[in-house]
Amino acid sequence: MDLVEFQGKQLFRRNGVPVPAEGTACRTVDEVEAAARSYIEADGAAAVMVKAQVKTGGRGKAGGVKYAPSVDDAVEHAGNILGLDIKGHTVNVVYIEPASDIEEEYYLSVMHDRVNKGELIICSREGGVEIEEVNRTNPDAVVKRTVLPSERENGLPKAIALEIMTQANMPEDTRDEAADLLVELFGAYLAEDATLTEINPLIKTKSTPGADRPGEGRIIALDAKVTLDGNAAFRHDGYEEWQIEGIDNDDPLEAEAKDKGIQYVKLDGNVGVLGNGAGLVMATLDVVAQNGGRAANFLDVGGGASADEMAESLGLVLKDPSVKSVFINIFGGITRGEEVANGIIEATKRLGDFPQKLVIRLDGTNAEEGRRILEEANLDSVVSKPTMQDAAAEAVRLANA
Ligand code: GDP
Ligand code: MG
Repeated sequence: MDLVEFQGKQLFRRNGVPVPAEGTACRTVDEVEAAARSYIEADGAAAVMVKAQVKTGGRGKAGGVKYAPSVDDAVEHAGNILGLDIKGHTVNVVYIEPASDIEEEYYLSVMHDRVNKGELIICSREGGVEIEEVNRTNPDAVVKRTVLPSERENGLPKAIALEIMTQANMPEDTRDEAADLLVELFGAYLAEDATLTEINPLIKTKSTPGADRPGEGRIIALDAKVTLDGNAAFRHDGYEEWQIEGIDNDDPLEAEAKDKGIQYVKLDGNVGVLGNGAGLVMATLDVVAQNGGRAANFLDVGGGASADEMAESLGLVLKDPSVKSVFINIFGGITRGEEVANGIIEATKRLGDFPQKLVIRLDGTNAEEGRRILEEANLDSVVSKPTMQDAAAEAVRLANA
């Protein structure tokens, strides 16, 4: 699950990663006014930031991050940003935070590295801009280091963090502090079962010559992008509380599937795919693609494919408005063909009317008997095809008809 910035900062804060001291998530201009007033008038902040809380990057470029030196400015910016569409995400929440004085902007992230089976740390002295862009134009400015589980026992050793900061040529007077922050960030990543924690920009705050005020010349995370591993949700109390009203949440059908214990992943095509066994479902996605189609989902009904499982799974797929046809690909193993066929017939009865056609390919134990049962049932919504190829072609044709 992706968190929005203010949640990412909350998570950072509770794990010791330095972030701006305070901030308030607001849903209305009135709330923004009250928050800005408290920071500017009561606390004496020089300005506040008004920041759109959506699960996408590049908010600044899209006009979703504004500097407000007065309460009136904050109100005006909030009026413009609330309701704004940023890359298809509607802004319903803005975060108000006392503005930081930036001396320099850097980049720092930790993410899972599947290929090398470790955690990839990326650090660059050039931050604030897209890291992909820096990587293209000035690859030498981007340090990438994979840390293997064997190199860390209880977190990231400070020596590795320091090595990275030196390689990235971070200013010498901040290297140690930046290395400490990286150790904390890595700790947060592990403790929270994250798959990504990204800070862009990591900043050094301005300092006034001669003055030594708290918070000056410090290294802090000014932005936070965090992805948590949903498969580890059971290990974390309050995981559901990250999902908040009005911020685009996980796909509702994925959530429903999770509740029912069904393996379901939403994809972006129009052919619903349902099979028994993850391997078969993956092969089915390939055959749909080979026939010029795109799968709308990945759904594994599991080994059994009983009437109950079929009805639950099919009901879920048919609820997705982007599904124009459904390809049911079942290989009968322990579950025999006639049971699967009866399961499908029973499922269609329970589901009542639906506009999509179901294209069924049934193979394996007693497949012929199963196909005969389907044929005899003579259901309007069901087309039976003997091979995976024929069924895929028909499902794609129906989806695009
Ligand atoms: P993003 O565009 O979605 O990555 O949003 P960010 O939170 O990274 O903000 C974009 C840019 O706005 C940053 O790179 C900063 O240059 C600027 N910015 C954000 N917060 C502050 C702040 O507190 N003070 C100042 N001066 N600039 C800020
Ligand atoms: Mg950013």
